Amino acid sequence: MLMKPHIEPVELKLLSYLSKRKNLSSKEKLHYLNLEKGYEGESKVAAWLENLTSEWIILYDLLLENNGSLFQIDTLLISQNTIYLFEVKNYEGDFFINTDNWYTQSGNEIKNPLLQLKRSVSLFRRLLQDYKLSFSIEAYVIFINPEFTLFQASLNLPIILPTQLNRFMKNLNMSTSILNDKHVKLAERLVSDHIHQSPYTQIPKYDFHQVKKGITCPLCTSFLTSCNDSQLVCEGCGCKEDIEAAVIRNIKQFQLLFPDRKITTSSIHEWCKVIESKKTIRRILKRNYTLVGFGRSSYYIDS
Ligand SMILES: [Zn+2]
Repeated sequence: MLMKPHIEPVELKLLSYLSKRKNLSSKEKLHYLNLEKGYEGESKVAAWLENLTSEWIILYDLLLENNGSLFQIDTLLISQNTIYLFEVKNYEGDFFINTDNWYTQSGNEIKNPLLQLKRSVSLFRRLLQDYKLSFSIEAYVIFINPEFTLFQASLNLPIILPTQLNRFMKNLNMSTSILNDKHVKLAERLVSDHIHQSPYTQIPKYDFHQVKKGITCPLCTSFLTSCNDSQLVCEGCGCKEDIEAAVIRNIKQFQLLFPDRKITTSSIHEWCKVIESKKTIRRILKRNYTLVGFGRSSYYIDS
């Protein structure tokens, strides 16, 4: 049972739109790449968890708070008696542990992911106490990337390496899990306590006049140019898209990037840039959105 599905984070979506329309600083680019890598890893975990056979509740990407401390849980599984917390890492390459410190092969120290896990578990345990619920908790750092290797790890660490994923899944599937109202209520409570506005979000500053206008290609980083009356073509990869679908896709980007700007024939005409005829824009808006207001102050909203 999927109570909180795995979806692309808004911050990542926004950065992917923005990266094609504005030069990001190297720090912003790095942050964007890290988010992308993290999302890719979590998607792989979501695909892996589709192999679960018995009844479980799965919650992805929770940001919770206990006593003023925020903590994040990448994946949470609720079974009959046990709650599993997974911290997902999509690291690639060779890493090693020396005493309690973690390093890349080239010797750069990275954050010890077990400390992060430990903190989340202890805050989650206190949250359950506040909820007046008792469950046993098992927590693991999952290394989902098959290209990841870890040297000098002791045997008893709560980690799941890529080569252990199949066996771990087999073990999960060996335990039978029957859920009842108590489990569903817990999941609902966690979803409702999830904090939507993350203070960790790092969005670069931008404004409408500064970003590049036009319709970006759905497949590559280029912009589309006009091809014929009904299609646009990408100069980068050659793919073609119907004008209407391309405009609607571009309006979605406009809405996410500029939530305070109104959708009007003029604003979308300027935003799409490549479509010369305002009539075409008006026709697409009329067909797919709802007109609000009259005359010059009218604008469109989602139907
Ligand atoms: Zn393209």
